Amino acid sequence: MLRNKVPPRCPCVSFSPDIIFFNESFFLLKNFCTSLPDITNLIGLLRLTLLRARKEPSCLSLCSFIMQGNAHLYFAPFFGGRLVISGAITVNTLTVRLFQMNARGLCIGHEPDSLEFSSLGGWVATRASGMKKNIYGNIEDILVRVRMVTPRGTVEKSCQVPRMSTGPDIHHFILGSEGMLGVVTEVSLRIRPLPQCKVYGSVVFPTFDIGVACVREIAKQRCAPASIRLIDNEQFVFGQALKPEGGSYFKSFIDGLKAVYLTKFKGFDPHQIAVATLLFEGDKQQVADQQRRIYEIASQFRGIPAGEENGQRGYMLTFVIAYLRDLGFQHHFLAESFETSVPWDRVTDLCRNVKEALKRKCAELGIKYPPLATCRVTQTYDAGACVYFYFGFNYHGLANPLELYDKVESAARDEVLANGGSLSHHHGVGKLRKKWLRQTISDVGIDMLRGVKQAVDPQNIFGNGNLL
Ligand SMILES: Cc1cc2nc3c(=O)[nH]c(=O)nc-3n(C[C@H](O)[C@H](O)[C@H](O)COP(=O)(O)OP(=O)(O)OC[C@H]3O[C@@H](n4cnc5c(N)ncnc54)[C@H](O)[C@@H]3O)c2cc1C
Repeated sequence: MLRNKVPPRCPCVSFSPDIIFFNESFFLLKNFCTSLPDITNLIGLLRLTLLRARKEPSCLSLCSFIMQGNAHLYFAPFFGGRLVISGAITVNTLTVRLFQMNARGLCIGHEPDSLEFSSLGGWVATRASGMKKNIYGNIEDILVRVRMVTPRGTVEKSCQVPRMSTGPDIHHFILGSEGMLGVVTEVSLRIRPLPQCKVYGSVVFPTFDIGVACVREIAKQRCAPASIRLIDNEQFVFGQALKPEGGSYFKSFIDGLKAVYLTKFKGFDPHQIAVATLLFEGDKQQVADQQRRIYEIASQFRGIPAGEENGQRGYMLTFVIAYLRDLGFQHHFLAESFETSVPWDRVTDLCRNVKEALKRKCAELGIKYPPLATCRVTQTYDAGACVYFYFGFNYHGLANPLELYDKVESAARDEVLANGGSLSHHHGVGKLRKKWLRQTISDVGIDMLRGVKQAVDPQNIFGNGNLL
């Protein structure tokens, strides 16, 4: 219905969604799922859209559940009592509810960079990861209970409990299902007290590899603050270039005196340095203890504290990047991000090799200007890290930028997998990455997914073409 009526965000992209479901569609959807033969006009249209979309697998404008009012929101406190907030949650309403919770001294702590745009159901359907997962956990850790409406009926647990040993967890069929089994309509999340104190910080390292070694040590000692991110030199330069002040990016990062100290006395090369941004949360004492410990470990890796403002700016960059991307489109600059998770011993190789693969492929395809190819380590775990790449190129004068983009991203994804990385850490599989899914989760794994799909949605009503 909206095709050709919604202006696409990227001028070189010609598609837009066929139908957008709003929250009020919940009952319609439920009826649709349970009484398929009685198709009303709208449902008929929807069905035709789905059928057409199924015949055009390359078409991205499927009828996906971009429900602005995505799912009702319930909060299950982890510290006794019960707080229930429910109602039709639009993205904006969700933000308002989160603020209301904050005013009452509570939070969920789940803060993906997409907070401004994404929805509760979307978080569950894609297995989202918030930047403060070190304290609060990823969405699967925060989730207490979820309801999903499927063509076979509703799937949900009977109680709001923290853990069950009742066979495979049905939540894990829903988490990451990417809209292909049903619609998430109700979610209960764990809540926590709002932290008393929130402090940013940053550390500059002589090289990215040394920075990775430090972040790994912090993960090993299990003392990571709410967020710790390590950006490579290209991203550091990029971030500094966005600062309003003029002058050298290096001088604007570190005041003049310190810059001399770093380069002349410490031997840091401005073209090599990497920066870790930090966010500490807790009560005053906890934050002070965390800061002391982190800066102590950093100093063992030649890391030098670079101030709170630089840390805060680093986090801001990740929020403005979506806007910058749109601005870039207007200037023939096509850009996107992709991510992976990787074991610790492969992190630096993967980062280097993927950036090289991006540049190599661009040159091979005749892309004139050097591309933007940069990465950061965004999440740390005992066993490895999440690495997030930005990639973009100037497509002025090139005939088919989307096709080129696809080829370069494909080459980068092959490189990620060859270097021991995962297909995705939190963006999911969708349609663009499903060609790699079989090799990632094995033949039997694919059959298991197919089995669930067949059991829940044998007529492929939720045939948005994701995953399978
Ligand atoms: C600028 C930017 C920053 C981002 N940062 C992060 C980040 O820090 N962490 C992170 O994890 N992700 C991030 N993302 C990716 C994405 O926004 C999230 O994964 C988010 O969870 C998706 O939610 P959404 O509401 O936007 O879903 P959509 O993009 O609308 O949908 C995603 C998929 O989920 C399905 N879906 C959506 N709602 C439902 C539902 N109610 N029931 C069933 N299926 C449903 C859709 O069919 C679709 O397949 C970012 C994206 C952008 C653009």
